[in-house]
Amino acid sequence: MNAMDWLEPLRPLLPDLASDDWARLARLDALLDQLTAPGPDVAQAVRSAYLLQVRQQLAGAGYATLTVPAAHGGAARPAVSQALSQFVCGWHDLDLRDATGLGHGALLLGAAGAAVRDRWLARLAAGDLVGIAATERHGGSRIQEITTRATLAPRGRWLISGEKTWVSRLGESAGWVVFFRDPDGRVSAAIIDAAAPGLQWEAIQPAGLAGWSWGVLRLHQAPVNPGTDLIGSPGAGLAVFREHFARFRPLVTATALGAAAGVHATVAEALAARVRVGMLPRVRDNALIALGRNYASLTAALLASLATVALGGAGDVRADLWARVGKAYGVETALSAVDELAPLVGAAGFTADSPLAKARADLAALRYADGIHDSLYRSGGKTLLTDRPEQVTTVTHLPVPSEQDAVLPTSA
Ligand SMILES: Cc1cc2nc3c(=O)[nH]c(=O)nc-3n(C[C@H](O)[C@H](O)[C@H](O)COP(=O)(O)OP(=O)(O)OC[C@H]3O[C@@H](n4cnc5c(N)ncnc54)[C@H](O)[C@@H]3O)c2cc1C
Repeated sequence: MNAMDWLEPLRPLLPDLASDDWARLARLDALLDQLTAPGPDVAQAVRSAYLLQVRQQLAGAGYATLTVPAAHGGAARPAVSQALSQFVCGWHDLDLRDATGLGHGALLLGAAGAAVRDRWLARLAAGDLVGIAATERHGGSRIQEITTRATLAPRGRWLISGEKTWVSRLGESAGWVVFFRDPDGRVSAAIIDAAAPGLQWEAIQPAGLAGWSWGVLRLHQAPVNPGTDLIGSPGAGLAVFREHFARFRPLVTATALGAAAGVHATVAEALAARVRVGMLPRVRDNALIALGRNYASLTAALLASLATVALGGAGDVRADLWARVGKAYGVETALSAVDELAPLVGAAGFTADSPLAKARADLAALRYADGIHDSLYRSGGKTLLTDRPEQVTTVTHLPVPSEQDAVLPTSA
């Protein structure tokens, strides 16, 4: 079974996808099949160079801007095609979680000013990556308590200082969406070019999702121009964060489920091959049950993630709730499937260069990245106690008033 075989039964449920969309997905699957990824045991720099190259190659083939509106140079395909592309990427390698789409660069699409948006969209369309710097040492689950702060500087500029931690894509991102307190103490977000002065990073070795560099990002009076570089209006940081992750989390979930489905296929093939060559007389019931049950649970969680994407695309108020609990549930489902399936092929799946061992470590890392699970369920529970979920505001760019406008470009 390949990724397309897994997705094929979902076709009748996705009438918005044309046969061209399915052909594009099949091309993506075939392309990723042809690439030889460096193993998980090679140096991080080699893996990250490979991942960036894949992203650029796919961007050249239009996969970065698949769902971007035509007015902004994209193919304007339904958001669900992005989720399916990410399922296919995950099937091959969970480190390909940034291989298609705008990634965190999507933050710039709706909520940045036109000039900044267009400049970054062109870079993203060429394969550049934008990272997100939100988490701080006091705890990523409490973004509202961040201490990274902007101070007022001459000519209307803001200078941002603070420390972000557990941040991914440190050495590979062309820019950062940084969350900080503006001079009035409100949580705001801005795009900062990775080449801007005042940025410094320090790598930490992660136990999973090690393809991209990861660690601490320090900002020492990094300049932003509040007239142009803000994402949303001053003080809209929490709404920006929430709106972005309502759309981003189901994509992450689909990637995770793709990784587990790829493990499922590998294990099923290995067991069938062992029977074929006479290594096993037959496949035992415990293995058959594990294959059947996990096929059902992975497919069910994938359907939930596609429904979340559709809710987000329709501007439905429940998309945020579904994205939070769906990410936690989908990644846990993927991890528990791999935990159960990988041992069925024995120690061969536990070597340092095994894709099964890698998928397990990557999925474990994804329980933290993009939202830690108990916090996501807890906030989901809180939402469910109210009569109806809170509307996620659509954030638009609203620069600071003109008397504060900066005269110097700071992050181009
Ligand atoms: C591989 C990876 C990639 C990442 N990439 C990025 C990135 O690119 N950018 C970025 O900004 N961040 C990134 N992160 C960070 C991630 O978003 C955070 O790990 C996550 O938000 C949780 O924050 P934390 O680790 O600080 O844990 P905490 O927020 O400290 O939470 C730890 C535990 O404490 C619990 N807790 C919280 N409050 C209380 C309380 N009052 N009492 C008791 N328990 C409490 C939480 O529920 C949780 O169980 C990444 C993390 C990983 C592992």
